[in-house]
Amino acid sequence: MRAAVTRAVGVMEVVEVAEPESPGPGEVLVRSEAVGICGSDYHFLRGELSDVAGGASPFPKIQGHECAGTIEALGPGCRPGLDVAARVALYPLHACGHCYPCSVGRPNTCDNFTLIGIHLDGGLQELLCIPQQQVFPITADDSAVAAMAEPASIAVRAVHRARIEEGEHVVVLGAGPIGQCVCLLARERGAEVLVIDLQERRLGLSREMGAQVLVWTDARAVVEAARDWAGAAGPPVVVDATGAAAAVRAMVEMVASAGRAVQVGMSNEEVPIRIGSLTEKEIDLLGVSCCGGGEFAEAVAAVERNAPMIARLISHEFPLERAPEAIEFAIEHPAEVMKVVIRVD
Ligand SMILES: [Zn+2]
Ligand SMILES: [Zn+2]
Repeated sequence: MRAAVTRAVGVMEVVEVAEPESPGPGEVLVRSEAVGICGSDYHFLRGELSDVAGGASPFPKIQGHECAGTIEALGPGCRPGLDVAARVALYPLHACGHCYPCSVGRPNTCDNFTLIGIHLDGGLQELLCIPQQQVFPITADDSAVAAMAEPASIAVRAVHRARIEEGEHVVVLGAGPIGQCVCLLARERGAEVLVIDLQERRLGLSREMGAQVLVWTDARAVVEAARDWAGAAGPPVVVDATGAAAAVRAMVEMVASAGRAVQVGMSNEEVPIRIGSLTEKEIDLLGVSCCGGGEFAEAVAAVERNAPMIARLISHEFPLERAPEAIEFAIEHPAEVMKVVIRVD
């Protein structure tokens, strides 16, 4: 079968590899159909992922953690509801179940977690074997839309961490796929949302979701505009979906006293923030990493509810044979790319 194999930093090749064996107890053999490409894929390919995020994971590796496909075969002991030929989205994370974060119900921050596409081979191959707990049936005509359950799951986690309530003012920095999904879910919860991005063209979709939008100019002007929009106290919730230092600082500055600042965008960079913003305003500064299994199920439902809107986040498609070019394209055209999907089938 064919697979896109990352052999070393910057080297991905599409080659013939051995098919997996038939699934063992509690395992599912999945025929991969569509894989979304995201920032962490570029970072991994370029050797820029932090060790905690999986950057120390050895080559060769088959990438692809945003994966949807169909069930090819079931090992013994899989749960009812998993059927051969059913379309599924894959929850990429497996947690150890016994470390401190696992013991307090936070398996998404497990000290020993593995992610498909980073620690284990992922979706950029025709067939893969995966534990049944990571397989979620999804009703979607298009496998590429089903693959969006993974980025949507990060937004589900963000909205939970942010404790967004009806009528609250929520600022989202960054109108990429995850920022757009945060906007969508916050709107579903009845929040007023302001989405901020460098690119006017990325804001159209947020506007259609009923959000107000703002083009990022300079930090001071953006902080002022966002605080004006939210009313005198400033926004009670701000979500950064960029990982850019200037945006993170703006988040901490604009958020209301007693508010929640939620970091979703990944980065290895450092950012200076004024210590007084934490003590004087007593803000909750909250991080987001992947999501739990229950949250992945919520993401599947969110994709099913919003399939036409989610489909519009997919800006480019490539076949598996052109996977290396697809990632290169995404790296080089950040302004044009929303979500690149690789069609494996
Ligand atoms: Zn991703
Ligand atoms: Zn653990």
